[in-house]
Amino acid sequence: MPRPRRPISTKQIRARLLRDARRQLWEEQNGCCWWCGKEIDLYLDPNHPLAATIDHLIPVSVGGKDVLSNLVVAHRVCNEARGNRMPPASALKVRMRAAEH
Ligand SMILES: [Zn+2]
Repeated sequence: MPRPRRPISTKQIRARLLRDARRQLWEEQNGCCWWCGKEIDLYLDPNHPLAATIDHLIPVSVGGKDVLSNLVVAHRVCNEARGNRMPPASALKVRMRAAEH
């Protein structure tokens, strides 16, 4: 007898979306951190300081959206060091342009 499938919670859906987004962004950024430009190992333990994290380019706290064009992949340390600082306007422009394609 096949076991009945448990319905997927929104939390699980979100976790999966984020994982897919992380991989997609990582590929778009050639496997490099948005902030420091160094390589990111996608398979590091999530608690590792150099693990890949998803960062909002424009922080949600100042109106940034939870959409791919506002997301970048960055090292955990870079993400944390950055806090709520806005990215340089030039970097933002490049990102927005890349997102259009
Ligand atoms: Zn970095």
